[in-house]
Amino acid sequence: MDGQDVEKCIICGEHKQDGIVIVSEFICDACEAEMVHTDVKDDKYHFFIHQMKQIWLQNNA
Ligand SMILES: [Zn+2]
Repeated sequence: MDGQDVEKCIICGEHKQDGIVIVSEFICDACEAEMVHTDVKDDKYHFFIHQMKQIWLQNNA
């Protein structure tokens, strides 16, 4: 184990070093920033929520 781990973002599916972990799932900086700036009325917001629900379902199965 050396250096920084690269994790797979559950939103965009890309492997990034920087990001946050929510409910043991990784979300990269870019997606996190986009989520924060996405309007609730935006279709993308519902996409994010959908992705998050998948995480919850997986963790509560
Ligand atoms: Zn991402």
